[in-house]
Amino acid sequence: MSLKGKTAVVTGGGSGIGRACAVQLARDGAAIAVWDLNGDAAAETVSLIEAEGNKAKAYTGDASAPDSIASILVRIRAELGPVLVLVNNAGITGFVAFLDITPEALERMYRINLMGPFFMTQAVISDMLAAGWGRIVNISSSSAQTGAKGMTHYSSSKGGVIALTKSLAAEFADRGITVNNIPPGFIDTPMLRGSPVNLDATAATSPMKRAGRPEDMAAACSFLASDAAGYITGQTLGVNGGRVIY
Ligand code: NAP
Repeated sequence: MSLKGKTAVVTGGGSGIGRACAVQLARDGAAIAVWDLNGDAAAETVSLIEAEGNKAKAYTGDASAPDSIASILVRIRAELGPVLVLVNNAGITGFVAFLDITPEALERMYRINLMGPFFMTQAVISDMLAAGWGRIVNISSSSAQTGAKGMTHYSSSKGGVIALTKSLAAEFADRGITVNNIPPGFIDTPMLRGSPVNLDATAATSPMKRAGRPEDMAAACSFLASDAAGYITGQTLGVNGGRVIY
């Protein structure tokens, strides 16, 4: 699966799923813009990629703020070239009872999880249109497929990501650009470990008796970014160890 000569942006690339996707897409040949709020974490991912002889640069900033997106993209285009692969992965989670969710918490959730991918896509898709080729992979959530008690602001933001994926896929299908989403279910990352979820107990009762690994997500991301997946668009590819089947 060669992405040689292409540039990929991975938002939230400093941790967990984003880091694994960045490392894998670099193995596939892409130059990676590792974009994260946490600059040290992004730099660590770049070190991992460079240690394997592959190419990456770290970019620190908010992937949901239009000003920050515009200024960072100027640097990425100058340093790595036009962006032909976009992985909208940066996100936050939250466990709050429905009646306790404040307008501010809801606005932050939707801004980072849903408006971020929206603004990022608006900002990079001109590169893909010019090339007549592009791959957008949105990281949604299995909570949007099943619903999730105590996570209405989170799961509804991720449901929006799935709808965004489908609409973009329809709008750009005849321009060489595919848009798909991967809803992770129970992947062992700092986000999951920092949540109230009991990792061992949940793993024990899951179909595969284990949590997912970030690399499980990276394999799906790599496939959807490849030429081999050129006839696949608007789809939802669950990576959840059989926790969600339909
Ligand atoms: P993670 O370990 O917390 O990594 C997320 C990274 O994104 C962090 O480095 C975080 O930086 C960064 N980030 C957050 N907001 C950002 C922003 N506005 N701009 C740039 N970077 C930002 O989480 P993960 O588990 O790998 O999750 C990755 C994605 O998968 C998220 O969208 C999440 O909702 C989704 N997901 C994960 C699971 C799971 O089981 N792990 C399940 C369903 C969905 P800071 O640490 O500085 O905030």
